[in-house]
Amino acid sequence: VSRNVWEAFASVLGQANVVLEEQELSSAATATYATEAGVLAILRPANRTEVQRCVELAGEYGVALYPVSGGKNWGYGSRVPTHTSAILDLGRMKAISHSRSLAYVTVEPGVTQRDLQDYLAKHRLNLWMDSTGASPDCSIIGNTAERGFGHTPYADHYANSAGLEVVLPDGRCIETGFGHYTGAHATHVYKYGVGPTLDGLFSQSNFGIITRMTLWLMPEPEYFTAFFFKCEHEEQLETVMEALRPLRMARVLDSACHIVNGYKVISGLQQYPWERTGGRTPLTPAELAAIGKEKNFGPWNGSGALYGTRAQVAESKRLLRRALRGNAKNLTFIDDRLLGLLRRFAGPLRHVVGWDLRGTLDLLLPVYNLLKGIPSDHSLKSAYWRKRTPPPAQMNPDRDRCGLIWCAPVAPLTGEHARGMVRIATETMLRPEYSFEPALSLTLTSGRALTCVISIGYDRDVAGEDERALACYRELARKLRESGYYFYRLGIHSMEEAPGDPTYDGLLAGLKNLLDPNGILAPGRYIERKVTLPRP
Ligand SMILES: Cc1cc2nc3c(=O)[nH]c(=O)nc-3n(C[C@H](O)[C@H](O)[C@H](O)COP(=O)(O)OP(=O)(O)OC[C@H]3O[C@@H](n4cnc5c(N)ncnc54)[C@H](O)[C@@H]3O)c2cc1C
Repeated sequence: VSRNVWEAFASVLGQANVVLEEQELSSAATATYATEAGVLAILRPANRTEVQRCVELAGEYGVALYPVSGGKNWGYGSRVPTHTSAILDLGRMKAISHSRSLAYVTVEPGVTQRDLQDYLAKHRLNLWMDSTGASPDCSIIGNTAERGFGHTPYADHYANSAGLEVVLPDGRCIETGFGHYTGAHATHVYKYGVGPTLDGLFSQSNFGIITRMTLWLMPEPEYFTAFFFKCEHEEQLETVMEALRPLRMARVLDSACHIVNGYKVISGLQQYPWERTGGRTPLTPAELAAIGKEKNFGPWNGSGALYGTRAQVAESKRLLRRALRGNAKNLTFIDDRLLGLLRRFAGPLRHVVGWDLRGTLDLLLPVYNLLKGIPSDHSLKSAYWRKRTPPPAQMNPDRDRCGLIWCAPVAPLTGEHARGMVRIATETMLRPEYSFEPALSLTLTSGRALTCVISIGYDRDVAGEDERALACYRELARKLRESGYYFYRLGIHSMEEAPGDPTYDGLLAGLKNLLDPNGILAPGRYIERKVTLPRP
């Protein structure tokens, strides 16, 4: 790409917002696993008009653009484009506005979880956002564009969004829902508008750049209690899933309840126990069980929360207790009052309960906060699981060469399917040629669907691990697919998994050709242009 192309972008954005320094480009081209695509430049527009100008220039000069909002798509490719491109970094676009009575905010792509949290506090809105387990510096729109999820009743971010403003690959701009009607009052409160609904086209795609979005938030409930439980036996996974499904379906459990295995717990608590294992990997199930005894976690560990009036929550507690009786141990409810007491008396109580209560609280607190929608970077420490040095104060898994690849299959919410996904993950990852701990969570994303998030965690500084991790991913992905478990979201290394039925893909390719005839927007991201519709 010749120098005068970037000068054209600089004339729109200002020189300071066209980054060409080698070091910055190479860090933008670094993810948490081995990738191939390069970054030609980082373009930093300040507003929607500048985004439109960038897109027009990209079309004129034939430059591929890869939009990122927070750029922290860790474990799925971070900021690295699917093909060598200029990154369109929307991080400077940080406007937020709100409606107090209708409980929504309208945000631009640069608004992070932290920005929103601060905004809600500053305006005393008494609204709770939903937060992911990733860092406070992740983008609200970036995560919603990927249909990510968190922990509260508003965990499904895409479902709770409306009124998108989207810049198309030719520079035109549209608003979805009722947003394209003059003076429409319901744009921010009614997702569909009238006629075909287009919002879905702009999530997990390369059809447009979302420059504004409305997000619905939860009014602070009268009462909140988190709950935690553990299963003592591996086989209780099935019965717990069967017991929780009716409660989730009846919305007694309104939040995205998470069940995690022991490997997931330990990787959230500490780094790999190198000394205990004498430097050998992987951590065996027997070693894990021994640590679980010491630290009071089981093969399966559940968390969730109940939200509502005191009376509603009291009834939900009763139903949850009844459902888990005989299936799980230590069902514990924690509210703000109890949490305060536990934190004060954790030291002396250690002798009463017989385990390290302070350690348990250290683990519970970030989860407790997440259930209230408060973001933290506590879970990010788990990306340093296999590193030999502790996570730094300012964590950056890309820079610190943490190895992390997510596999996130979805299944029907039944015990049998939960076991199906777990079995494949465990058998594959523990095999000697891979030797990775199968750390995984199972999230009751709805009353009917279960999302399993499996992490392949490793150290990129260990020779051969990058290749081993990708090989493990590919085998895992293949086995899961062959068993009917497809992923809810894909990393940039695995976009070839997106195609399914050729007629469906042909339709998407046709739309891509129509919207992006020059193929400049995130080429290869979920949708390929080359596919041709099969003849009838
Ligand atoms: C420890 C840990 C825990 C995590 N927990 C969670 C979790 O609980 N839930 C979860 O969902 N994820 C989780 N993640 C994964 C990931 O970090 C988050 O999903 C994060 O929100 C994505 O980064 P971002 O918000 O900065 O989005 P970005 O990186 O900005 O966006 C993601 C992708 O969406 C597309 N995109 C971004 N902005 C736009 C736009 N404006 N228009 C069109 N397309 C766009 C781009 O292709 C981009 O690559 C976790 C990761 C780690 C390491």
